[in-house]
Amino acid sequence: MKLVFIGAPGAGKGTYAQYLREKYCIPHISTGDIFREEIAKGSELGRRVKEYIDRGELVPDDIVIEVVKKRLNQPDTRNGFILDGFPRTLNQARALDEIVVIDAVIYLNVSEEVAVKRLSGRRICPVCGRVYNIYYEPKPRNDEKCDYDGAQLIMREDDRPEIVRNRYRVFHETFKPIIDYYRNKGLLIEVDSNRSIREVMPELEELLKKKGILRIKPCKPDIKPD
Ligand code: AMP
Repeated sequence: MKLVFIGAPGAGKGTYAQYLREKYCIPHISTGDIFREEIAKGSELGRRVKEYIDRGELVPDDIVIEVVKKRLNQPDTRNGFILDGFPRTLNQARALDEIVVIDAVIYLNVSEEVAVKRLSGRRICPVCGRVYNIYYEPKPRNDEKCDYDGAQLIMREDDRPEIVRNRYRVFHETFKPIIDYYRNKGLLIEVDSNRSIREVMPELEELLKKKGILRIKPCKPDIKPD
């Protein structure tokens, strides 16, 4: 199940990816997360990408493509993966075609108003990276603490409404050619992501099964979308 996820901020990409990762034990590969980890480690790669990320610019294609190529060579991607944040340019999309055959591109389509509301309630665990929402499920059970490790949840600076509106606009400008590219290839599956994941996910899993893309058995069959 080799998937690319595309969605504006607030589309629920992280939530969907977390669900599929836990249920099917396939890795969620986010280039943004990889870069942030490398920066935190102070590695050579981290030093190279930091200046671009700090300026809010895209990291050059050759660096990103190399990172993704290396990551997709790891044995944990054998049964599938979810790519998130990549590709972001047509050059990257074409390079990805050379690296691996993608089964489907899931485009989570969300309205600007829903995106703003969702993100203003989003809270993240700084320890394990789990994502919660104080307005919607999954809500933290205990105050604003992580259900798993008890860490105090945090709000991302860029989840403030005026910043979300700008990120939403930039997303559509950046990803339009990528969405068109995959639509033309017949790989795009568009999902109405204004609905809750509880409604959308069973439909999406059924569709992926029908298309022969979801062939692996769940490693944790009891996990439900919430
Ligand atoms: P994200 O968490 O996906 O928003 O990524 C954070 C930052 O990492 C972006 O603003 C870019 O600077 C960089 N980045 C992540 N993925 C890519 C990519 N595919 N191409 C270029 N830059 C990227």
